Amino acid sequence: MNLDGGAESPADAIRSALEFLGDRLLSDHSLAPLCTYRAGGAAELFVVVGDDNELATIARAISSVSGGSLIEQGLLHTIGKGSNLLVSDRGVKGLVLQLGESFAEIAINGESGDRVVVGVGASASLPVVARRTAAMGLTGFEWAVGIPGSVGGAVRMNAGGHGSELREVLTRVHLVDLESGEAMSMVPAQLQLGYRRSSIRAHQIVTGIEIELERGDSTEAERRLSEIVKWRRENQPGGANAGSVFTNPPGDSAGRLIDTAGCKGLRIGTAQISDKHANFIQVDPDGKADDVMALMKDVVQRVEATHGVTLHAETVLLGFPPADVAAVKAPLGEVSDD
Ligand SMILES: Cc1cc2nc3c(=O)[nH]c(=O)nc-3n(C[C@H](O)[C@H](O)[C@H](O)COP(=O)(O)OP(=O)(O)OC[C@H]3O[C@@H](n4cnc5c(N)ncnc54)[C@H](O)[C@@H]3O)c2cc1C
Repeated sequence: MNLDGGAESPADAIRSALEFLGDRLLSDHSLAPLCTYRAGGAAELFVVVGDDNELATIARAISSVSGGSLIEQGLLHTIGKGSNLLVSDRGVKGLVLQLGESFAEIAINGESGDRVVVGVGASASLPVVARRTAAMGLTGFEWAVGIPGSVGGAVRMNAGGHGSELREVLTRVHLVDLESGEAMSMVPAQLQLGYRRSSIRAHQIVTGIEIELERGDSTEAERRLSEIVKWRRENQPGGANAGSVFTNPPGDSAGRLIDTAGCKGLRIGTAQISDKHANFIQVDPDGKADDVMALMKDVVQRVEATHGVTLHAETVLLGFPPADVAAVKAPLGEVSDD
């Protein structure tokens, strides 16, 4: 309850529970600089989590507030490197967590013959992991060199490219559940990893993973890295974007459908469909997330009208009304994609 006898708002309840964080618990913290679109509003509450112990304390505190209700109301979120995120210009209610640098370690955990198990923290960047493992003479993670996300985001999205995806090398995922306050460890089979999806929900924070790579030739691995970086430079646009906006429908490519629906170069306000790759949206400096959303809706309608195919946004949407989300995320079946 408030001093005036009114019911405490969820943000106040979170603030009281996390009082021990002091001024590290930030209010109205702008998320635009933390997203590759460089657009969007603020988190009502935001914290960069220092280490495992602090995350455990936060999880216990949050689980005691919520009894599940903060989760049901969509008031808990984790962000990684914001490379697959569109945050509404009106911001995000509740608490947004981001794991800090202490979660970025990369270490060899074990070896058996040519197989090497590497432990990687969830805030490690995918290109760094790709380059470090290649330099160690390990092969199997080169595909990730051009994906500017974190390992945690890559698990949630089952990131992939160049014919590979994370689940092919993933052997274990360490998580903290903000609902129960518990830390746990899961095998990939428990996570329903599919094409750019998993069963990981907003209250489950990935803290680290184990991947199994093979001993190989570091020169060959580094040649492959250069090849991938060159391909990305030639085929994907730069600027402020969040990679592929829509997933590829079965047997087709979202880029081809968008292109042949006449959308290349289409602009709404500060957002434009890339001339280089039709499944990328680029945002002007100081652009608006609302423009990106409007453009996404427009593209869905044009592709539907031209091809009769309903596109599904790969981009994770934070802070948008359900009608906006429904307009760009066609239902995908049993695994929800919130
Ligand atoms: C230029 C460019 C190219 C790209 N190319 C590819 C590509 O080839 N293949 C591909 O798959 N993706 C690609 N992406 C998209 C993006 O980089 C990946 O989806 C990446 O894995 C997202 O990681 P992130 O840390 O940025 O996650 P965010 O964008 O910060 O978050 C994405 C989702 O992951 C969740 N999340 C983040 N961290 C955690 C965590 N620790 N625990 C639990 N959940 C978490 C968030 O809650 C959110 O639901 C590209 C993006 C860009 C900008």
